[in-house]
Order: sequence, then C-alpha cells, then structure tokens
Amino acid sequence: MLRLFKKRCTLCKKQEENLTTYKDRINQTLHVCSVCKDYAERRAFQKIV
Ligand SMILES: [Zn+2]
Repeated sequence: MLRLFKKRCTLCKKQEENLTTYKDRINQTLHVCSVCKDYAERRAFQKIV
C-alpha cells in the first residue's frame, strides 16, 4: 500500500495515524498529533468529533 494519504500534524509536521482534529479561532482546521494535543488544548482550540 502507498502511504500518500497519511496525514501530518499541522503543528510539528510529523506523520501520525491518530490525529485529532481541531478548529482554531479563525475556523481553520488543524490536525494535531498526540504530542501537540496539550498545546492545542491550552490554546483552547475547539475539538471536532
Ligand atoms: Zn504534532
């Protein structure tokens, strides 16, 4: 299988399979890895389920 569609973390650009999707204050979608999740939550980004 090709891995062309693997997502990257918006913050650290690391490829990870389990990214959490957030929305920031200007409604931009962010894909955040588990490492950057803390940061995103501290910035009060909205979690999209
Ligand atoms: Zn990250």
